[in-house]
Amino acid sequence: MAALNETHDPALKSWVDSANTGDTDFPIQNLPFGVFRRAGSDEPFRGGVAIGDQILDLAAVRVARAIRSTVAANALRAASGATLNAFMAMGPQAWSALRLALSRALRDGAPAQAKLAGALVAQRDAEMAVPASIGDFTDFYTSIYHATAVGKLFRPDNPLLPNYKWLPIAYHGRASSIATSGQRFHRPKGQTTPPGGNTPSYGPCKRLDYELELGAFVGVGTTMGTTVAMESAEQHLFGVVLLNDWSARDIQAWEYQPLGPFLAKSFATTISPWIVTLEALEPYRAAWTRPADDPQPLPHLDSTDNRSRGAIDIGLEVWLESERMRRENSGPALLSRSNFRDSYWTWAQMMAHHASNGCNLAPGDLFGSGTQSGPRPEEGGALLELSKGGKEPVTLANGETRTFVEDGDTITFRASCTAEGRARIGFGACSGTVLPAT
Ligand code: CA
Repeated sequence: MAALNETHDPALKSWVDSANTGDTDFPIQNLPFGVFRRAGSDEPFRGGVAIGDQILDLAAVRVARAIRSTVAANALRAASGATLNAFMAMGPQAWSALRLALSRALRDGAPAQAKLAGALVAQRDAEMAVPASIGDFTDFYTSIYHATAVGKLFRPDNPLLPNYKWLPIAYHGRASSIATSGQRFHRPKGQTTPPGGNTPSYGPCKRLDYELELGAFVGVGTTMGTTVAMESAEQHLFGVVLLNDWSARDIQAWEYQPLGPFLAKSFATTISPWIVTLEALEPYRAAWTRPADDPQPLPHLDSTDNRSRGAIDIGLEVWLESERMRRENSGPALLSRSNFRDSYWTWAQMMAHHASNGCNLAPGDLFGSGTQSGPRPEEGGALLELSKGGKEPVTLANGETRTFVEDGDTITFRASCTAEGRARIGFGACSGTVLPAT
């Protein structure tokens, strides 16, 4: 488990001025990792760390020899490549050593400033890549509010199936169509049926939706045939991004039984490019509780540490910008807010459950949290919930209405963490735009 240390000190300031504004997502207390190059260049992609509105180029930090500690320098070498997999595989001690070294190098008055001033690239000039080679993508379903709301639409008398409170439900997703923020994709086509009908036709999806999720990257892998104890589960997880599990509801409704989602989910998935490490999230941990009259987790999915600090307070937002809003320059409309603190299952439980059958996990594997909806109806993390299954259109500030996502819409997720006496950190944007079907 990570612990609070000098890198979390809210009094720290950086010599990069834009990191000290108080409202930036990337103050010196955050230091998330990504992979980038200058936009429009043929430079190699390499690791970087977001600081204010800049990126600290980790390959340039290596060249400048600005980091002395051997553990941190080895971690720096692994983090300067075109994917972060090798760095992720090194484990919490290496992650923490590099974070500490970068925190010290970026602080106001750091001797390293002179060496590193030329290692900054403005974020607006950068092109971000998917930060890891993602071998496998698993999407969970950890919000009981989402599962209940969606379950009610299909099974009004029996919204939650009996397994839900015993294990973190998931399906194996598609890694190839995951892209970073800015993803633009064509409305998917597929088989759909008219209401009540059993004869499908093939054509563009009519009920395209987003799903407000977080993603967690596996750092240290596991060996086939071994399981992971709850006590060490988080040591396998590197960090967290925002994730939009775009979903074609009409395709999903026809195809999902009996084997689960397939083409309704695999056409596109968008993630935010900056991985906020679990160590950076340490100040925002919260107790994880299970209502007394609900089943308590089986021993292999339970631990005192998970109960005392397994949850994380991450405030989530969904914004929609339509073509008309873009044309009129009126700015996007807020669709909903929710918080990952309300998740029924924690990252540690997802990790322990995933490995509980002996399945091997690899550095760079990605978990989706499932749609994060809060307890109140306006906190739904998908339009399916906000529009009550498409029956009640949502009215936006400019009078436009939505039951599902329309061509030209840009959906943007944002997230931030605040805590008394702590710096505010954020995740940057996770944006995706829907183009007309081809
Ligand atoms: Ca999902």
